[in-house]
Amino acid sequence: MLDSASKTFFHLIARSQTLKKLASRYGMRKPSSFARRFIAGETVAEAIEAARAVEARGMSVTLDLLGESVTSLAKADAATRDYVAVVEAMIASGIGRNISLKLTQLGLDLDRVTTLDNFRRILEPATTHGFFVRIDMENSPYTEVTLDVFETLWGLGYRNLGVVLQSALHRTEADLTRVLALGARVRLVKGAYKEPASVAYQRKADVDAAYLRLMEALLRSDTFPALATHDPEIIDRAKSFVAHEGIAKDRFEFQMLYGVRRDLQASLVAEGYGVRVYIPFGGQWFPYFMRRLGERPANVSFVLRSLLREN
Ligand SMILES: Cc1cc2nc3c(=O)[nH]c(=O)nc-3n(C[C@H](O)[C@H](O)[C@H](O)COP(=O)(O)OP(=O)(O)OC[C@H]3O[C@@H](n4cnc5c(N)ncnc54)[C@H](O)[C@@H]3O)c2cc1C
Repeated sequence: MLDSASKTFFHLIARSQTLKKLASRYGMRKPSSFARRFIAGETVAEAIEAARAVEARGMSVTLDLLGESVTSLAKADAATRDYVAVVEAMIASGIGRNISLKLTQLGLDLDRVTTLDNFRRILEPATTHGFFVRIDMENSPYTEVTLDVFETLWGLGYRNLGVVLQSALHRTEADLTRVLALGARVRLVKGAYKEPASVAYQRKADVDAAYLRLMEALLRSDTFPALATHDPEIIDRAKSFVAHEGIAKDRFEFQMLYGVRRDLQASLVAEGYGVRVYIPFGGQWFPYFMRRLGERPANVSFVLRSLLREN
């Protein structure tokens, strides 16, 4: 994980409009353009093509139509309609039925009731057609409300629904107990956002230690957890833990991001573990892309080299 200072730096430049314009112009232009390493494309057809390639390598997929922090209800409505179209396209394509989405994409900053309605407009067809729907976790001001929305939907009877918990946050241990009391499925991540010391561990060692504690509780819960990390040490610890506890390989899955540690994805599949790849796509890719750069500054030189090639 990146140290705190550079994470802050990338979160700041993620807000730069000039950079956003530059990146948008060059990032996806050609198959070799730099953003395509992490983002499958701008259209659902490109995402489906990427998903087929991932599935052909023995992995499963979840598709994420990128978008977050919409600033009007009209935009939230448009994002909802786009998501319903994604669900329809996925059904028609025959790829795995699994999507991930963010509540601020559906209007959470504007109106909670509308957000719930929008979510149900997506959940209805998704549920009818056997999809699993994962609510991504955004930064800490949204943790409580995200869990609330999730619990409301769970209370309405939706069971094809899961959440994400971040080991970086102090509150997560309690949140895990809360979510496991429902028997719901959790994706465990370290956390992609720059968070203050009042709510989150600042040292990688502490975030990792918390991850291991939460991971063990999740694996014991037998709720088909998703261990979403590219961290080889944590993955090794997960493998020894399940072997020691006699937990079968089909009782959980690893999840990784499109374009990150493809070597590790392949070796886990070869060892018989389930691996799901998170495939982001769509026009609103800039904030997602900047978070990926922030996690690994080595990626920046890769982007700069690609930019030089573009011109
Ligand atoms: C499937 C999936 C879904 C996610 N959903 C959410 C979510 O809903 N909310 C949220 O806050 N976060 C989410 N994340 C992001 C997560 O919180 C971390 O920011 C991200 O996974 C990097 O942490 P890491 O566990 O891989 O470990 P790190 O300690 O950051 O990295 C371990 C190693 O992984 C490799 N690596 C990590 N990131 C990169 C990268 N960008 N490029 C190249 N190599 C890399 C490097 O080899 C690094 O040494 C998700 C991650 C995954 C895999």
